[in-house]
Amino acid sequence: MKSAQIIKIKEKLSVVDLPDPKPRDTQVLVRIEASGVCHSDIHLWEGGYEGAAGTFLKVEDRGVKFPITPGHEISGKIEAIGESVSGFSVGDRVIVYPWIGEGSCPACRVAQENLCDTPRTIGIYRDGGYSELVLVPNFRYLVKIDNMDVNSSASLACSGLTAYNAVKKATVGPGESIVIIGAGGLGLMSVQIARAITNSTIVVVDVDDKRLSEAKRLGAHEVVNSSKVDPVEDIKRLTSSLGAEAVIDFVNNTRTAPLSINMLRKRGKLVMVGLFGGALELSLPIIPLRGFTITGAYTGSFNDLVDLVNLSKTGKIKSVVNRTYKLGDANQALEDLRAGKIVGRAVLNPNN
Ligand code: NAD
Repeated sequence: MKSAQIIKIKEKLSVVDLPDPKPRDTQVLVRIEASGVCHSDIHLWEGGYEGAAGTFLKVEDRGVKFPITPGHEISGKIEAIGESVSGFSVGDRVIVYPWIGEGSCPACRVAQENLCDTPRTIGIYRDGGYSELVLVPNFRYLVKIDNMDVNSSASLACSGLTAYNAVKKATVGPGESIVIIGAGGLGLMSVQIARAITNSTIVVVDVDDKRLSEAKRLGAHEVVNSSKVDPVEDIKRLTSSLGAEAVIDFVNNTRTAPLSINMLRKRGKLVMVGLFGGALELSLPIIPLRGFTITGAYTGSFNDLVDLVNLSKTGKIKSVVNRTYKLGDANQALEDLRAGKIVGRAVLNPNN
C-alpha cells in the first residue's frame, strides 16, 4: 500500500510503499476513501505545540514515534476482516473511531478512551489515514455510514466529534449566548451542532471574512471580525453588557485566551479546544469573583461519535468539504491549510 508518512518533523512527507497489513482476530482492514486534513496534523508535522515562555511541548515527549502516517479522520470500505470480527462484512462503508486507548486506565474503563493515560490513537501513535489502507485493531471502533457522503463523513471522527463534545460541555440553555472563536474545520462544525442541539444565540469570532460568511450561512446569528473590531466590546454590546454564558475557543492561543475570559458572563464557562499554543496571564481573583469555569475538551468518546453519525443522518449537520487532494499531494494539503487557504475541511482521497 502507498502511505504518505512524516519521516522527520518539519520535512516534507514522503509517499512510501509498505506491505498491505493482513487483519487477524478482531482486526479490520479498511480501504480508505477519504481522510480529513486536520490542523492537528500540522502540529504533529511541526513536532509539537508552543507552550509558555518560549517552551515547546514536543510530541515525541508524549510518546509519538516517527516515521508515522498521519490522518485520524478516516472513512472507507472494509477490505478484509479477522476471524473474530462480527457484525461487519467486507464491503461495508464505515468511519473509524481513532481515539483508541490501551483499555484499562480509569478513562478507558468509563468509555472515555479519548482521554486514555497511554493513548494509541490512529494517525498519531499508530499509522493512520494518509494511506490507501489502514489496519483498525478492533471492529468495535467502526461505525457504519451506509450511503452518507464519504468526504464529509470522514471528518465527523475529529472535527465533528470534538465540536460535539465542546458544545455539550458548554451547556448553554435556550436564549443564552455561546461564542465560538475560530471558524475553521472545527468551528464551522460547532456552529451547525450548536444550532442542532441548543437553542442558544450563536456568535462566531474569526479574523477572516470568508470564514465568517460561511459561519453565517451555516446558522450563526452574529459574526465578529476580531482583526477589525474589539470582539470583547462587540460581545458585551450583543449581551446587554453582561457577557456570554459560554465561549468555545478553537484557537486557544496567547491572543484569543484573554479575549475569551473577558467576554464571559458571571458563572460563564470557557471550553478550551485549540492547540495553537502560547500562554495565558490571568488575574486570579476574577475566577472566584466571577464564578467562571474553565475546562478543556479533547475529541470525544465512541458513544459521542455514534450519536453524531445519527445526527448527521438527519441532515442537520454536514462537514463543509471544499477541497480534495490525491495522496501524493498531502504536502500541498497541509501547506494550504497552514496558509489559511482552506475554508472548512480538506480531505485526501488516497485511492483516486
Ligand atoms: P483550521 O486551520 O481549520 O481553523 C483555524 C481557524 O482559526 C481559522 O478559521 C482561522 O482564521 C482562525 N484563527 C486563527 N487565528 C485567530 C485569531 N487570533 N482569532 C480568531 N480566529 C483565528 O483549524 P482546525 O482544524 O479547526 O483546528 C483548530 C485547532 O484545534 C487546532 O489547533 C487543532 O490542532 C485543534 N484541535 C483540537 C482538538 C481537541 O480535541 N482539543 C481536536 C482537533 C483539533
